[in-house]
Amino acid sequence: MPELPEVETVRRTLAPQVEGQVVVSVWVSGKPLRQRVVTRGQVGGPLVGQVIQRVDRRGKYLMLVTGRGGVLLHLGMSGRLAVVDTGGPRQPHTHLCIRLAGGREVRLVDPRRFGSVEPFLGATPPAAWTSLGPDPTQPAFTVAALATALARTRAAVRVALLDQRVVAGLGNIYVAEALFAARQDPASRSCDVRPAEVAALHRAIRRVVAQGIAHRGTTLKDYVDARGERGDHQRHLCVYGRSGEPCPRCAALIEARVLHGRTSYACPHCQGGGGRAAGRSGGAG
Ligand SMILES: [Zn+2]
Repeated sequence: MPELPEVETVRRTLAPQVEGQVVVSVWVSGKPLRQRVVTRGQVGGPLVGQVIQRVDRRGKYLMLVTGRGGVLLHLGMSGRLAVVDTGGPRQPHTHLCIRLAGGREVRLVDPRRFGSVEPFLGATPPAAWTSLGPDPTQPAFTVAALATALARTRAAVRVALLDQRVVAGLGNIYVAEALFAARQDPASRSCDVRPAEVAALHRAIRRVVAQGIAHRGTTLKDYVDARGERGDHQRHLCVYGRSGEPCPRCAALIEARVLHGRTSYACPHCQGGGGRAAGRSGGAG
């Protein structure tokens, strides 16, 4: 699924194509996205007749901002945004089209429909946006904020970092890479992570996210940006998806472990942990 670096790359490639453009009309498929149906009227409310002032991002959410409100977009597992000439044939699984005065339109294509489209009127974005934790690219993501959030939970640190209220934008790939960079055992209990380890983790999260953005995201299967280009960061991953391969740091073999139903990749030697594990559930994979 697209994580922060992929969504930021989409934002960077979408913004120059839509900012300053007037929205002429919108179209929706009427099919539910994440079990929720939005109508053409709801999406059109903040958009039609308005200039798209900017494209913002927080965590994995994008927001198209107009003078009347905006629309939150989430790409879910398989969503992609493309800007194409108006009137061309619609690809299967197109769920939203935003037609611009300049003769182009923004299309959201999402085969698995785990994405979301959430329009809002006025200056206050919906809770999906305001309830997000700090974004690692923003100054609000501090060592102290991370320490406070981790201290509140006994969950495994890997699970806590996937919680979008703790830190916004990380998913399986960048959590695995950040834990590796910080030499942190994914199964350590969050509230037991020591201050020096929190500081290392904070540094590692910022670094892996920045590297992911610099490489325009990770394309494992079908992720492309808003110009249809694949990312490059998959060539730079240290542990994610690399079980059985040598650790780039110590050459021990990277292990896949199932932790709370999700596969986690780590080096058993340099992320060894010291008996402070929470809910470790064994060596699958
Ligand atoms: Zn290692």
